[in-house]
Amino acid sequence: MKITTITATPISFRLPEGKTVTMGVGSTTKRDAIIVRVQTDEGITGYGEAHPGRSPGAVTSLIHGTLAPMLAGMEATDVIGAWQRVHRMQLSSHGLGAGAALALSGIDMALWDIRGKAANMPLYELLGGTRRRMPAYAGGIALGYQPKESLAEEAQGYIGRGYKALKLRLGDSASVDAERVLHVRKVLGDGVDILTDANTAYTIADARRVLPVLADARVGWLEEPFACNDFASYRQAARITPLVPIAAGENHYTRFEFAQLLEAGAVQVWQPDLSKCGGVTEAVRIAAIASAWRIPVNPHSSATGLNHAATLHFLAATENSGYFEACVSRFNPFRDMFGSAWQVGDDGCVEPPSGPGLGVEVDESLFEKYPMVDGPGYVVKF
Ligand SMILES: [Mg+2]
Repeated sequence: MKITTITATPISFRLPEGKTVTMGVGSTTKRDAIIVRVQTDEGITGYGEAHPGRSPGAVTSLIHGTLAPMLAGMEATDVIGAWQRVHRMQLSSHGLGAGAALALSGIDMALWDIRGKAANMPLYELLGGTRRRMPAYAGGIALGYQPKESLAEEAQGYIGRGYKALKLRLGDSASVDAERVLHVRKVLGDGVDILTDANTAYTIADARRVLPVLADARVGWLEEPFACNDFASYRQAARITPLVPIAAGENHYTRFEFAQLLEAGAVQVWQPDLSKCGGVTEAVRIAAIASAWRIPVNPHSSATGLNHAATLHFLAATENSGYFEACVSRFNPFRDMFGSAWQVGDDGCVEPPSGPGLGVEVDESLFEKYPMVDGPGYVVKF
């Protein structure tokens, strides 16, 4: 079974006027996603999702102009070979770095969808796992900067839907962040796992002020306090308190960058995104490295049900898996555009889809409803 064509379709959705969510990475203006389709000469078609970075047009162009011709004609089941070819040609030399990892992630995911469809197996089974209930937290672009009272109200809404864990956005200012976390803990009580994410907006001074407060509030982790490559700050932050693990990984690409996290000894929770890190193939490798150091893997999730389904399958087949990041964004029509990939139950848990491959039926006629709006999806105040 050979790869014949690879196409990428970028889609965008503008948030309604005044409905932005603000967090450490900026204020959202739109959601973007790239749907990758891989066709084979045996009539099986696979779909994957590539993260758009800040430039959906550029990542789409990279897939069409460079990666598709590089991979056409290869065995569709040879995910390792496809990965290696892109790595040698795009990631390791004259590379385009993150852009190539984003593009490869969508293609690799589609190849796994093909493998599952060809074997008539759901991906979790193909990866050696079983269909099981796994804990989810209310995440995605939600619980952003707002008065502490409305934040607690939003949080209570997710608890009412079954979630036992949720993620608050920090990075506003150390004092405001601390006040919000303490207030939400007071309102929700002790039975909820509160996670936090600064989206790289902290300085080491901010971390010194906030981490002791997060420890008092029994927060489950502090995610991305610093830029992805600021290893010195990560190392310092890990020494401030043993009570709050530092999490990162959504902006780390391939196992080689995760190996650097390991060497820094500063990140206790790993968060690869299957639409960014190099796809399913690479996420499996990253999880295997993490397992040897007893590091839990809590993947970051992207926009559509394709990424969410792939993530659920991956978690169901991973020994050291943690939470599924459930996208509870109010303005993400891509989450359910192909039907719901998951439902949270009263136990706060989710299951992977049961159909072959990713188990997601893609209706391509829906793409035209969401024409691409190129450029970044966040407005940042400097
Ligand atoms: Mg994050």
